[in-house]
Amino acid sequence: MYKRQVLSTLHTNDAAGTLPRLHEMGIESFLVASTVNVIIAQRLVRKICDRCKVSFELTNTTKGWQGEEKIATQLATISPVIINKYLGSNKSVRVYQGKGCPVCHNTGYLGRVGAFEVLEVTPKIEELIVANADSEKITQQALKDGMTTMLEDGMNKVQRGITTIEEVLRATRE
Ligand SMILES: [Zn+2]
Repeated sequence: MYKRQVLSTLHTNDAAGTLPRLHEMGIESFLVASTVNVIIAQRLVRKICDRCKVSFELTNTTKGWQGEEKIATQLATISPVIINKYLGSNKSVRVYQGKGCPVCHNTGYLGRVGAFEVLEVTPKIEELIVANADSEKITQQALKDGMTTMLEDGMNKVQRGITTIEEVLRATRE
């Protein structure tokens, strides 16, 4: 017996938003719950150009983040929990940026990569779908079940020097 797999795409704000959307499209909730296995949401972020990549260290003081001013301002808008978990520590972080070169036409970026959110439809998520729960409730359960959000995946890529905080904030907050 072959198990059929169907891959499909939809435009929603996040992974959990897909489930109420399918219901709105007229699909019975029990069918959604029993047939959807996993939902992957993605936003594209620009990759830092490797030829002109430079790093910045910022430190957290009683006056807030100190260092490159623009990055300090961006850090101030991110929750300390996320910074601590994905950027290293709440005391100091090292992040990267392209300073611009002929290869990247002075943009500091070359190519793009996805920031992903992977929502696995667990038994508890199935129950919420059948109960027609909203995307907020589904997201809360998915986080308990271990889902990494697009912001978190993006910040992991910031920490690894693949992209910038600016790109991740633009992609996940627009
Ligand atoms: Zn460059």
